[in-house]
Parts: sequence; structure tokens; C-alpha cells
Amino acid sequence: MTVLGIETSCDETAAAVVTGDGRILANLVLSQLDEHRPYGGVVPEIAARSHLDHIDRLVEEAMAEAGLEFGALDGIAVTAGPGLIGGVFVGVMTAKAIALAWDLPFLAVNHLEGHALTARLGTDLAFPYLLLLVSGGHCQLLAVEGVGCYSRLGGTIDDAVGEAFDKTAKLLGLGYPGGPAVERAAADGDPAAFALPRPMIGRPGLDFSFSGLKTAVRHAAQAADLLDDPPGDAGNDAGRKADLAAAFQEAVGDILAERCGKALDLFRERYGKAGPLVVAGGVAANRHLRERLDGVARAAGSELMAPPPALCTDNAAMIAWAGVERLRLGLTDPLDFAARPRWPLEELRETPAPAKT
Ligand code: ATP
Ligand code: MG
Ligand code: FE
Repeated sequence: MTVLGIETSCDETAAAVVTGDGRILANLVLSQLDEHRPYGGVVPEIAARSHLDHIDRLVEEAMAEAGLEFGALDGIAVTAGPGLIGGVFVGVMTAKAIALAWDLPFLAVNHLEGHALTARLGTDLAFPYLLLLVSGGHCQLLAVEGVGCYSRLGGTIDDAVGEAFDKTAKLLGLGYPGGPAVERAAADGDPAAFALPRPMIGRPGLDFSFSGLKTAVRHAAQAADLLDDPPGDAGNDAGRKADLAAAFQEAVGDILAERCGKALDLFRERYGKAGPLVVAGGVAANRHLRERLDGVARAAGSELMAPPPALCTDNAAMIAWAGVERLRLGLTDPLDFAARPRWPLEELRETPAPAKT
């Protein structure tokens, strides 16, 4: 089985070809970073236009790299939401056109399900597992019971983790995109140099909150006079900024670790097994956080499974793989499937036939 995947829901134009036995035959990601950098964030109209300009060529390149003609494919998978709707439309129309022209099954993939199932790509990870989904727009703990079967255990009541990284980077003038910039800066910093809060730790339930931490970072930066450097020029403040970045990352690590520890307990009660704990989404590329979560999983007698960093941030291999998983179960979609800007994972529960393994 071979599936072409297309991803255009944010600021990466991506096309990939993946096989049923988990081989990635092509995985092309075209980042729009340079186009959005002047604005310090993703501009939806620029993103949609750029996807339109590049997607056809990228799909052709992915097919050429895989050494396949469209007729050799078994299905076309595309991110059909959630995301910036203009970009999602570009991908969905492209995928529908190919599916129609070549009479191939069409698979409308939820972007979050792409992140959620990536850990199964090329591994023997079985259902159920505990998933910490941490990305630019999401922060959730879920029990993944099968393809299309997600049970939400907790989530953020305000900002997503990736958002907090991006805002911290912007505040400190560390550059864009924020996550990798904060991680780089933090590597040279002393996390104990600033005292930051750890919202929600010790509270009942499995929800998260990051807005208070974000505000605390702003106040600390103000107090230390770190705010007025021109972008990209940390000047004499580089050391203090590194300290604040490290303190922020450490606080996030503490929060994620505490919540995941509790979630592993709940998971064990509910499913009778110790995880495994899977982390996915762009923030899962962060090495410090991966180490922290690995420690938590081990302490609970479990293990952490984290996709390689390049498969954590947005890519099309994860969409093609989710397509493989759905196609195997016969979960194809009609060509009039409407793209969905908002599409929580739990709503996939409506789809039938959870996988047994
Ligand atoms: P979503 O998946 O919620 O729709 P998205 O697709 O825009 O959002 P992803 O590509 O999955 O997001 O993740 C991007 C986010 O991950 C950004 O907020 C980015 O700062 C963050 N990120 C990427 N690399 C790192 C890193 N090394 N450390 C921390 N955060 C990171
Ligand atoms: Mg992105
Ligand atoms: Fe994403």
C-alpha cells in the first residue's frame, strides 16, 4: 500500500509518499519562514498564496523522488483541518483533483490525528497509548485507543505550549520561529537565575495553563531591562536572555512532567497498562522537554516514544501515514468532504471501526 500525503494547514507546504509498512519514500517540506518573518508570525493570506504557488511542483517532486506515477498509488491523503482555512483549501482541492483524475481513494485527514499517529510510523507501537500533543495551536493529553478514537484527559485552558515558546522568543527578540530559538538560547542559560511560576502544578485534573507563565516572563524581562534591544541583536543582554529562556523552558518542563506523571497514573487505572507515553507536535522536537518526559515515563515504569524531531514539526509524511492507517480500515471520504477550520480530535469518535492493535 502506498499513499501520497499533502499538508498545507499552516506555514509549511509539504508532500510525502509513505508505504503501508512504514517506509518514507519521499518527504518534502517547503517552509514559508522567510515570507512570514518580517511580520513575526504567520500571515494567513500570504500562507494561502504561497501554498498555491508551490504545491503542484512539490507534489510532482515527491512523486519523482518516490519513483512512482500517480496510477501506482493506493490513496491520496490531505490535511482537511484544523488550520488556516485558505491554506487547507489549497491542499484539499489539489488532493481531490488528483483523486478524481486517477480514480483513487480520498482520505480527509485531521492534522492532529497526523501528529497523534506519527509515533506508529515505522515502529511497533500498539494502541492504547497516552499522548501528550504539544504544538503551535494545541496542548492536550489524550488516550489514543485506536485510529479515530481519542479520549481527552485534559488540555490547556488558555495558550498552547508552542504559542508560549513563540511569544517568549518574540519578547526577548530571539528570532522567529520561537521554539527552536528559545531552545538554542536556553542551552547557554542558568534556569535558576529567574524564579517563574508553574501554573496548575498540584491542582486536581489534567488541565494546563500557560498565560500566567507568559505574563511572568514579560514582567521578569521588564524588570531585567531586556525588552528594548533591536530584533536579532541581544547586545550585552545575551547572557540574561539565555537565563530567562532557560528558566522559561525549565518551568514548561516541570509543568509537562507533573501533568504527564498524573496522566500515566490515570491511564494505568483506566487501561491496566503503564503507557507508553507518546509526545507529538512541534514542541516535541525540544530535546530538553523530551528528556524530562523520558524521566517521567521511566519513573512510572513506562517508556517515552517520541518521533524523530523532523516528524514532530509539520510535515506530510505524518498525513500520508494517517492516510495509510485510515485506508487500511476502509475509512475513506467522499470528494465533497468539506474542509474544517476547527476540528477537535474527539469528534473523530463518530467514525466507525476502531483498530484492534
Ligand atoms: P497545530 O499542530 O496545533 O495545528 P502547528 O501545526 O502550527 O500547530 P506544529 O508545526 O505542529 O504547529 O508546531 C509548531 C510549534 O512548535 C511552534 O509553536 C514552534 O515554536 C514549536 N516548536 C518547534 N520546535 C520547537 C522546539 N525545539 N522547542 C520548543 N518548541 C518548538
Ligand atoms: Mg509551522
Ligand atoms: Fe502541527
